[in-house]
Amino acid sequence: MPYRFAALPQYATERILAERLTCWETHVERGTELVGFEQDADGVLASLTLPSGAQERIRTGFLLGCDGAHSVVRKVLGLCFESGSFPEEYMLGDVEVDWELPSGYAVRAMHQSDGRTDDLLVCIPLPGPNRYRMSMLVPPELALPQQPREEDVAHGLEAGPAPGLPHIQAVLDRLSPQPTRASALRWSSVFRISHRLVDRYGAGRVFVAGDAAHIHPPTGAQGMNTGIQDAYNLAWKLALAVRSAASEQLLASYHAERHPVGEEVVQRTVRHAGSGVQADPDDPATLIRREAQLLVGYRGSPIVATDGQPRQGPAPGDRAPDCGGLRHDLTTFPSRLFDLLRGQDHTLLLYADDEAQLAPYDAVVASARRAAQGRLSAWVVAAPRLRTDGLTLPVVHDGQDMFRQMYGARGGEGFLIRPDGYLGLRDAPLRVPELLAHLALTFRG
Ligand SMILES: Cc1cc2nc3c(=O)[nH]c(=O)nc-3n(C[C@H](O)[C@H](O)[C@H](O)COP(=O)(O)OP(=O)(O)OC[C@H]3O[C@@H](n4cnc5c(N)ncnc54)[C@H](O)[C@@H]3O)c2cc1C
Repeated sequence: MPYRFAALPQYATERILAERLTCWETHVERGTELVGFEQDADGVLASLTLPSGAQERIRTGFLLGCDGAHSVVRKVLGLCFESGSFPEEYMLGDVEVDWELPSGYAVRAMHQSDGRTDDLLVCIPLPGPNRYRMSMLVPPELALPQQPREEDVAHGLEAGPAPGLPHIQAVLDRLSPQPTRASALRWSSVFRISHRLVDRYGAGRVFVAGDAAHIHPPTGAQGMNTGIQDAYNLAWKLALAVRSAASEQLLASYHAERHPVGEEVVQRTVRHAGSGVQADPDDPATLIRREAQLLVGYRGSPIVATDGQPRQGPAPGDRAPDCGGLRHDLTTFPSRLFDLLRGQDHTLLLYADDEAQLAPYDAVVASARRAAQGRLSAWVVAAPRLRTDGLTLPVVHDGQDMFRQMYGARGGEGFLIRPDGYLGLRDAPLRVPELLAHLALTFRG
């Protein structure tokens, strides 16, 4: 894995996302509120209230509700969003401390009585010397006067009185691993947690993603990451749909693929909030890969090939892992597989360890491109010393044999990787009718 975990404050995440949006000459219109919508067979008519108070109606092909735990889109669609809330209230504060613990590590301390956690301190490092986002149980003087009703989705930050330094210091005095003094409080809030999941991730031309679809405890930092993966799963499918290039069932696969992921995340974070990560007997490597969402997969999805054969490397539906050591003819440095997978199209990788396997590849790629409405790039991944002179397709050499080993690739095998980095199909040797039938699950014929 070439990347480490990053702990970013929310304002930094929002700045990065907003800057990225400007690359497509679009920006967030703050203060504009969706108040309702209607949909028919051809599109959606959305009603907005602008910051000036003026009303506006916009006709769109599709509507994606990324409008958080209290989602208007979810309510108008009438989606079921059931489960429950935790009675505990928590408080958060961004502070500096003067302890001498090594920097860059999270700190978690708790006190339990009769198997129940009755005192808690979680410190997540933030940029800045000894600065942490601290999460703790709320003291009685800051608690809500009454429990929210079941039908109110009690989730997220509360508007009531905010914790001050003395509230945070009192918890540090009880639970900090070293005596320390909190200072420089930058922001604080009280928050409540529910755990809920929609029954459907959309209806017709309208979808929900992120906290609009699932809410759960922040244990393991899964919420935003799960929401972004929802959007990643749906974005390339919507992009094909708006170009009229999507198959009939492509958009329905969003629910089929993401609902089980949301269900697993809600159940796991509820388990971990009650009993800690030790509630699941995973080895540390599996635990960290699960929390990094690298184990999410879509085996059995209606748009993924079935694969009954046990074999080495990823199966259809698994995330296509990165590997290094690839060599382009005109460069002297190795590149990574992820460099080939960038972009918004499907990628067909054709592995070859014998010159005879190369001959049909041009025709195979031409047919696949037609079936994919042009939205497919292709690479020949050639064994280290295989001669590929005269090929018109782009070639990389598997210079250090890493691709063959990691993917269990066999001569003549084809791998089709989706725009979101998941393996749709692998076939050895690659059979064109199977490839075209598979592409027809995603692309309009
Ligand atoms: C204490 C705490 C710590 C967390 N820590 C982490 C973490 O470390 N890592 C992680 O991955 N996740 C974390 N999460 C979860 C994460 O904050 C959420 O999952 C994430 O913010 C959800 O993003 P979202 O875009 O779906 O919804 P939101 O962040 O709620 O955004 C919804 C947006 O829609 C807007 N909106 C709402 N209604 C309308 C409307 N009718 N019209 C127009 N706009 C509307 C809102 O103003 C808001 O801007 C944490 C959550 C909490 C409470």
